[in-house]
Amino acid sequence: MDRFIGYVKIDTQSDPESETTPSTPKQWDLANRLVEELKQIGMEDVTIDEHAYVMATLPANVPHKVPVIGFVSHFDTTPDFSGTNVNPQIIEDYDGKDIVLNAEKDIVLSPDYFDDLLQYKGQTIITTDGNTLLGADDKAGITEIMTAMEYLINNPDIPHGKIRICFTPDEEIGRGAHQFDVQKFGAEWAYTMDGSQIGELEYENFNAAGAVVKVQGKSVHPGYAKDKMINSMYIAQDFINSLPRLETPEHTEGRQGFFHLTSIEGDVEETKLQYIIRDHDKTHFEARKQMMKDLASEICSQYDRDCIQVEIKDQYFNMREKVEPVMHIVELAKEAMEAVHVKPIIKPIRGGTDGAQLSFKGLPCPNIFAGGHNFHGKYEYVPVESMQKATEVIVKLAELTAKKYE
Ligand SMILES: [Zn+2]
Repeated sequence: MDRFIGYVKIDTQSDPESETTPSTPKQWDLANRLVEELKQIGMEDVTIDEHAYVMATLPANVPHKVPVIGFVSHFDTTPDFSGTNVNPQIIEDYDGKDIVLNAEKDIVLSPDYFDDLLQYKGQTIITTDGNTLLGADDKAGITEIMTAMEYLINNPDIPHGKIRICFTPDEEIGRGAHQFDVQKFGAEWAYTMDGSQIGELEYENFNAAGAVVKVQGKSVHPGYAKDKMINSMYIAQDFINSLPRLETPEHTEGRQGFFHLTSIEGDVEETKLQYIIRDHDKTHFEARKQMMKDLASEICSQYDRDCIQVEIKDQYFNMREKVEPVMHIVELAKEAMEAVHVKPIIKPIRGGTDGAQLSFKGLPCPNIFAGGHNFHGKYEYVPVESMQKATEVIVKLAELTAKKYE
């Protein structure tokens, strides 16, 4: 708990507008502290590169050959919500009732709305004071990895192979894997400790693309516009209404994909629509992109001109295809959870993960729970017991891997 609270008090918000890595200089504050702490607990090869990627090694303590495994988490917090002056509140022996985060501003964390809280009755819950996020995403992950390494160092009777760990900047702006040196990391596979509630184990995420739809109209004086004016906003409206109305984020779940209109900007002359396209299934994903293009040409043909341009850029892909050939790494995580009495919850992520990018860079990387809830806002909280379990899962994974290859 002290370790976690020490980390969350350091502001590490990332910034999508910046082009440097790390995107904000303040991320160095925690990165440098982590380097010192890793050395202090007795990790070896502790390095930090010019982009603030922190890596370290726990050498094997068994004579036989064991694949090198890795654990990864990120130290930045989302730009969506303030991470300045985080002031954690500790609720011991949670009674299942409302938690007042901030009496003055009347901000309450209530199980009436967040019913997940009820499964943590009797546990110790760390919350915000209502003014900031907590930063359990993903300083819980860092705490768990650090604590598990310290535990393995202090308990040399637990057999394990070589373990590599990495703490990254800028995950929240989608760049945590960008400068990740997979070669230098040198693990056969790894796990991000960046999931939410206890038990989560994920190896599927969306295929993702962004689309910009530009509609060209023709502006003419409205008094003399008959048969001349073309209002791009009406054409854009046609385009929007022609996409399947129920295939949007607010109408889908599980493995259902969607088109999501994220912005409209327009006048008579030109309208710009921005979409994101998401689908777990690669074939459906490609079909969605094609559908947008086909729709554009169909509408254009009604106006007898090239009035709609669709520009689509892939953003990231479903890691499933990279993990499926090495499913034993998911099985191992499952086994480790069961061994410490955590029920695995395997489900597809409706989003992306750094592990997906790492998987496509040659480091298969499923995601394991870090324990927190309600990320990216003032209602974020984490039960201490969930963090303890995540720590135990890391220790068990190390042990099981060594035993499997005996
Ligand atoms: Zn995260």
